[in-house]
This record gives sequence, C-alpha cells and structure tokens, in this order.
Amino acid sequence: MSILQPLGKGDSDRVRRELSVLYEVSNAMRTTLKLDQIFYMILTALTSHEGLGFNRAMLFLVNEKEKFLEGKMGIGPHSGEEADRIWKGIEDEKLSLEDLLNSYDKFKRDPESKLNILVKGIKIPLSEEMGILALTILEGMPFEVSTDKAKEKVSPAIKNALSTDYFVTVPLKSKDKTLGAILVDNIFTKKPIAKSDIRILTMFANHAGLAIENSRLYEETEHLSRTDWLTELWNSGELQKTLARELEKSRIGDKKLSILMMDVDNFKPYNDSLGHQKGDEAIKTIASILSRKSRGDDFVARYGGEEFTIVMPNTSKKIAETIAERLRKEIQDIFASHTLPKGVPHLTMSIGISTFPYDGGDKDNLIHKADIALYEAKRAGKNRVCSYNASLGKGFLGLKKKR
Ligand code: GH3
Ligand code: MG
Ligand code: MG
Repeated sequence: MSILQPLGKGDSDRVRRELSVLYEVSNAMRTTLKLDQIFYMILTALTSHEGLGFNRAMLFLVNEKEKFLEGKMGIGPHSGEEADRIWKGIEDEKLSLEDLLNSYDKFKRDPESKLNILVKGIKIPLSEEMGILALTILEGMPFEVSTDKAKEKVSPAIKNALSTDYFVTVPLKSKDKTLGAILVDNIFTKKPIAKSDIRILTMFANHAGLAIENSRLYEETEHLSRTDWLTELWNSGELQKTLARELEKSRIGDKKLSILMMDVDNFKPYNDSLGHQKGDEAIKTIASILSRKSRGDDFVARYGGEEFTIVMPNTSKKIAETIAERLRKEIQDIFASHTLPKGVPHLTMSIGISTFPYDGGDKDNLIHKADIALYEAKRAGKNRVCSYNASLGKGFLGLKKKR
C-alpha cells in the first residue's frame, strides 16, 4: 500500500492539466467560507470530466467530541445509466469546471442524490479495526485499496453502503491535524487509479484541508457571536433579528406569533446565599429545560441575566399559554426538590405573553406588551403565566426597574 512514487515520462501533459484544476479549485474555494459549498467544490473537482474525473467522490469529517468519522457529502451517480446520463448532460451543455463549481445552489435545489444520502448516513468509530477510512485518519496517510489483503481491511459499513472494494482514500489535513478523509472510486468505468492520480489527490486534499479549517473557524466564530456563552442559547442581538424576521413572515402569511418573556423568581436571594456559581448552574439548568421542552420552530434566547425569551411562530395566545404553563411547572418541579438555606425561596419562573397581531405589530411593541404581562405575573405573586390584555397596560409604571 505504498503510494507516492516518482512520475514516469509522458505524464507531463496530464500533470499540467491536473495542476490547472488544482489552481482553479483553490481559487474557487477562496470565494466562499460556507462549509457545504467548499465540500461541493472539492467533490465536483474530483468527479467532473474537466476535473480529475473520478466516478464518485465522498467526504468524511472527524467528529472530535465523539471520536467518529462522519460522512458529509457524496457526489456521483448511483448506477452506470445515471452516470452516462449525467456525463452526457454535462457534455451537451458544454459545462466547464468553472460552471460546475459555481452551480452549488442548483445542487442544493436538486432532490438529494442516493449517494449523498448514503454517505451522510455513514458513521465510523475512529479505531484501527474499523478499516481503511479510520486508518487514513489515524495514520494521516493515503491508502489504495486494490489488493485482496487491503480489501480485507474495508469496513462493512463502507462495503455495504457503497458496494465498492476498490478505492483510494486520502487524509484531509490542516497543518498537522487530520480533519477528515476523501474517498474516490471508479466503480462504473473500472478505470485503474494510478499512483500519479493519488499524488495529485494528496496535493488537492492539502488545499482542501486548509479551506475546510478556515471555514470551520469562521462558522464557529460566527456562531459564538450569535449565542450566549453561558447557556449556548441565542443571545439578545439574535433575538431582535429573528423576531423582526418572523414577524414579517407572520404578516405576509397572515399567521399569529406569540412571544414569552420570562424572569426567574427569587434569583437574587438564591445567588446571594448559594453563590454566583450555583446561580450560573441554575441558569444553565433552566436554559436546557427551555430548549428541550420547547418545539422545533420555537426560538429560545437568553434576554439577559436571569431573563429568557421564546419566540413562537405560528402560535396563538391559547397555545402559547399552554406551553408556557408546561414550562413553568417543569421549572417549579425541578427546583422544588433542592434543599435551600432557611428563608431562601425556591426558584420558579414568571412568564408574560403577547401575541401578534392582537397586542402589537412591531417587535418593540410586542416585547413591551409581554413585559407588561410579566410584570403583572410578578405583581400577582410570581410563579405564574400572564397574558397581555389592554387593561394591564393602564397601570404600567415600567418593568425594567422592578426586575
Ligand atoms: P424577582 O423574583 O422579582 O424576579 O427578583 P429576583 O430575586 O430574581 O432578583 P432581581 O431580578 O432583582 O435580580 C436578578 C439577579 O440575578 C441580580 C444578579 O446578581 C443576578 N444575575 C444576573 N445575571 C447573572 C448571571 O449570569 N449569573 C448569576 N449567577 N447571577 C446573575
Ligand atoms: Mg428575577
Ligand atoms: Mg430580572
């Protein structure tokens, strides 16, 4: 399975072409920081005729937390007939590599290909006995699976999912870290994969690795700037943006939208007597209840301190009340079992609700109305849910100070 050997004579034309592919793709990858788009460019360059021309290419990334290798994207036909059809289509339309690299949006719109679905379902634990793909990561080197001995090392997950036992893998590296692996094969044409192909593939994977690492760092930073560091919920900046966007959607679609403003009751005595760390833990526990118990379309944010907000698109006041009551009870029950110093009340939650379009048309107004309802919940004795109604607004003196 040794791979890298000097090129023979007569290869120079092909090498020139391959280097130009490498150049073109590296440039294309520089135009985006979107991870999926980068995957698409890498795999398109590997499979297109004008590119490196492999029948199929698949990309896997290491999930460091769970020590798994996960399939991320696969490009290529799932049968010989489909291969002919796709390749003929590309020739007929005279699509250049540049055209293909720029057609990511079309790829996204197309129904998911069978291969892509298969690859995304692959999850391989990172241990030597898990076969060639895992070894590619652990040893950080390319593998060519062609000999019978090598074939024995192919994990059943790959063999069954991809029905292939002749392929090449190369690691995706960034500096000295292996981020993942690329697998290519020629399952339909049966064209042998030459040593020189593997050489260019390795160079290609090095460029790809750097592009992936950059994009990941960017996505991580971007995500961090939108979330709250303690709870990992969305932060208040993101709440403002999302609420404005969801309200616009509700307006256009003539749909209701409810928001929940929540403030933890008795947090100050809890914090003061148990300490800030215990206070932080309680905030995290509440955040996790809110995200686990809310619905898929609900948007849960930490408004600040011990205050949370949930934006509920497509939700009437009545349904919002039912959900809010469920959350209130859940929080009450979790903290009721805590043993606290004498005189320190248990943590509970007060919740105020306002609903578009009845209580307000813009986001500031809606937040204000939910705040008024929350104030009423506090005034009435805490640990309760209160919906806004016009009579509440009259005596409102300003909630921000009270909280
Ligand atoms: P009420 O029942 O009326 O809501 O009052 P409260 O006891 O919850 O107290 P209040 O709203 O007056 O103050 C909230 C306290 O929360 C004050 C502040 O020290 C604490 N706090 C705010 N953010 C954090 C945080 O991130 N971590 C911790 N541990 N405490 C925080
Ligand atoms: Mg409070
Ligand atoms: Mg408060």
